[in-house]
Amino acid sequence: MRALVAVVIAVVLSFALTAPANSATGADSGSTNGLRASGTPSGYATIPTLRPIYRVKTKEPVVFITIDDGIYKDLAARRLVEKRRIPVTSFLTAWTVQDRARYFERVSSRGSIQNHSATHASFSLLSTDLDHELCYTQRKLRRDFGNTPWMMRPPYGAAADSPRVRAVARRCGIERIVMWDTVIDDGRVSYRDGRLRPGSIMLLHFGPDLEQDLRTALRVARKAGLRPADLAAYLPKLS
Ligand SMILES: [Zn+2]
Repeated sequence: MRALVAVVIAVVLSFALTAPANSATGADSGSTNGLRASGTPSGYATIPTLRPIYRVKTKEPVVFITIDDGIYKDLAARRLVEKRRIPVTSFLTAWTVQDRARYFERVSSRGSIQNHSATHASFSLLSTDLDHELCYTQRKLRRDFGNTPWMMRPPYGAAADSPRVRAVARRCGIERIVMWDTVIDDGRVSYRDGRLRPGSIMLLHFGPDLEQDLRTALRVARKAGLRPADLAAYLPKLS
């Protein structure tokens, strides 16, 4: 009897000791493999898990136009996007979409619609309900646009590196945290690293000056020998 108990304990112990190690190894290699998307543009490089992305690693002469929030729905800007066939990634706050989903669908018809929170609360405040801001917005944007976002941009760019934010984001199906390296505001351009580069991510806003900002974005891209491309093609959904 004593021998049997010893065997049982030994088996239980060995399982307890090896199981977590095995599953941890499996999870690591699984997620690493899972992050290597195939069939993506040649310049695409593996992005580490949910590390904020300021610029896409690529040698192709491309830049990415992203537009945030969604409070203003400027008609002239939409017309320019359609006329010039500009690929636009819209990072929308759920509350600003209201009954104007079609506006954003048209603006992002050559791009995609992604998650920019529900109410634009800062993720660095502990009082912010991340579940609502991230997970509710995933469901709401899916209801409004038919696709679940896989990219997220935190309001104000705050707490993009926070483990708490990453954990909730991952749980809700976010695969990329997308920041920016170029800001265009009121026709003025500011660069994080001094200039526009291949893979640069431009930040604009759905404001009253969007048309002007889009023209500025196109002009500085052309001057740098770069063309706007669809961010979703370079940072595709992985799962
Ligand atoms: Zn914003």
